[in-house]
Amino acid sequence: MIGKLTGVVLILALGAAAGELAFHRGHGAGPAVRACGPAPRYIFAAHQNSVTLRTAAWSVFGRPETGWEVYAPLAAHEIGVDCPPDTEGFAEALADWQGDHRLPSTGIMDEPTLRGLDRIWQGRRPFVVVSAQGVCPAPPAVLANARPDEGFGGKPIQLRPVALDAYRRMVAAARAAEPVLAADRRMLTIFSGYRDPAADAARCAKELNCNAVVRATCSAHRTGLAMDLYLGAAPGYGPDSSADPNRLYQTRSNAYLWMVAHARAFGFVNYPFEPWHWEWTGEAP
Ligand SMILES: [Zn+2]
Repeated sequence: MIGKLTGVVLILALGAAAGELAFHRGHGAGPAVRACGPAPRYIFAAHQNSVTLRTAAWSVFGRPETGWEVYAPLAAHEIGVDCPPDTEGFAEALADWQGDHRLPSTGIMDEPTLRGLDRIWQGRRPFVVVSAQGVCPAPPAVLANARPDEGFGGKPIQLRPVALDAYRRMVAAARAAEPVLAADRRMLTIFSGYRDPAADAARCAKELNCNAVVRATCSAHRTGLAMDLYLGAAPGYGPDSSADPNRLYQTRSNAYLWMVAHARAFGFVNYPFEPWHWEWTGEAP
């Protein structure tokens, strides 16, 4: 009996492995992927997705990018799957999502689909919603100081008191759930919180670094609700480098994957182009 069961399990496991192999061939040896249910109707879509993941030439976030792998964790979470972006299971769930959002239900990630996802992600950021109405929120009346161990490298950080409380609850939960985050206390520390609009504008002019003019005009960091969290950095890059290799490195990190799965339960949403930038949504900007 035990032998027979083992045989059945082995056959199932081999079947799943062979299916996955077809889609992961040529990607090099990565971490073991979770088996996702086979969906033969989406073999072609999964193959298309496996190609565009690293080759698509799209410009959804204001500048040209190659591939959409940076957005794969958020996309998977949004469409309700826990499987890699090049699998039939992902394509099947994406087709359902597309159908629900008045897009052709192909299961193939394309630029309109990524734009549709991004509209939803940006729509969850109250700061973006009021900015779109032409409102630049006034700085908060009250700010709280983070503890030195909460700022990256001990950097002084200020946030709205309620946002800081929410941040503390979230980081405690992350460390309790993920041993690697508990072991490396730099992970999820804050390298930028509240930024004084006047100082931001001055720095923008002085350094000629206007962070895509956001710093000079109206940054989410003026609200005291936005925070840049340390997620590690690819070798040779800073923690806030928007270079594609760095963003890809960060979106593969345990810290980011945990945030994608759990941050919303604590009221936090991500600006997808910057894996490190999170905004607390529990209070109006
Ligand atoms: Zn930021």
